[in-house]
Amino acid sequence: MEEPHQKRQKTREEEEHAEEIQHGPFPIEQLQASGIASLDVKKLKDAGLCTVESVAYAPRKELLQVKGISDAKVDKIIEAGMSFKSSKLVPLGFTSASQLHAQRLEIIQITSGSQELDKILEGGIETGSITEIYGEFRSGKTQLCHTLCVTCQLPLDQGGGEGKALYIDAEGTFRPQRLLQIADRFGLNGADVLENVAYARAYNTDHQSRLLLEAASMMVDARFALMIVDSATALYRTDFSGRGELSARQMHLAKFLRSLQKLADEFGVAVVVTNQVVAQVDGSAIFAGPQIKPIGGNIMAHASTTRLALRKGRAEERICKVISSPCLAEAEARFQISAEGVTDVKD
Ligand code: ATP
Ligand code: MG
Repeated sequence: MEEPHQKRQKTREEEEHAEEIQHGPFPIEQLQASGIASLDVKKLKDAGLCTVESVAYAPRKELLQVKGISDAKVDKIIEAGMSFKSSKLVPLGFTSASQLHAQRLEIIQITSGSQELDKILEGGIETGSITEIYGEFRSGKTQLCHTLCVTCQLPLDQGGGEGKALYIDAEGTFRPQRLLQIADRFGLNGADVLENVAYARAYNTDHQSRLLLEAASMMVDARFALMIVDSATALYRTDFSGRGELSARQMHLAKFLRSLQKLADEFGVAVVVTNQVVAQVDGSAIFAGPQIKPIGGNIMAHASTTRLALRKGRAEERICKVISSPCLAEAEARFQISAEGVTDVKD
């Protein structure tokens, strides 16, 4: 079992202590030690619950929907999950703010490839939460995703996450050749970089959701630092049409985003989703010129911890603005798209 992402070098003392604590995620098989039958473990796994964490964090209602698991068994599983977590000192209850502060200091950030951009992000894209990137076509969303697929593989002291990347492509714009170009810039072996990126094309919203189950089981087996969905909303625009299907669409999207959040919580990966925008047609447009807004409504807005808006500047120049974040100021930074992916502006 690999340790979760850690930023600084640990002292010997801390290392010894860490051995006692043991870090998750814990494979679901470990519940067998608490008396859950292996057949039931398999049923949970088939439903996408691959870790003890996923069971401990799941609402009872969700466990009841797992095929072949009875009411009585659900209670037993919940109990096993809860007692497992508390025995391993991963709290499901309250902790002190100082302990939380110490934990947050260890959260690693993945560099965007541009120092200017990293500065307003206070290090880069945060692991363990969802970052949404929205903007018009050609604003650089996909390019930033490609860059992150490479930088997440870098060592921690170079702004990386020392992990693999998983890429769900809903638009068909993933280009491995771009990864090779970007890998060159960071002095990484191109073949290794490609090997460390798991790719899947999503064909419809149901398929896109199902891919997350597979993602969870892959993350149990290897260390992933990044999960990309480019774009998270494109298929929703075509699978659901008109006002009549709006509420069904929003419910489906909410479930999808919730599953992504679960991956971020359970495995500590940085989840990056891109989002398209639409022109806003209301009264204010007359005064302020055409306004754009990201799609997905409140569901999308609430699901993402950090929201970044990209827009075009002169030529290859792009501007990124922090729109909402629990801890970052609403700052702007300029960056550039080049053959080596996202870089600082070279004037
Ligand atoms: P969409 O909404 O259509 O998906 P996007 O925001 O994902 O758009 P990107 O595909 O990330 O946009 O960015 C496209 C921009 O990246 C284009 O302006 C293109 O010129 C630039 N670009 C792509 N490849 C290279 C490269 N090898 N060298 C320099 N610039 C490149
Ligand atoms: Mg794109």
